[in-house]
Amino acid sequence: MVLTIDQALCSGCGVCIELCPEVFGQGADGRAIVKKQESETCNIEEISDQCPMEAIDV
Ligand code: SF4
Repeated sequence: MVLTIDQALCSGCGVCIELCPEVFGQGADGRAIVKKQESETCNIEEISDQCPMEAIDV
């Protein structure tokens, strides 16, 4: 599994960062970035489903 965020799609809404700050961070341009590929506490697939722009690929 490789977790990626499509920067062309991400609106910078912050939902993923709020749900799992361990894995998702905010880049200099306000869009989300991947900080870690894995987490024991967050369900990354569920967060991916909640991205309004469908920008998170798992
Ligand atoms: S939830 Fe989606 S659109 Fe919102 S910041 Fe995260 S990747 Fe970007």
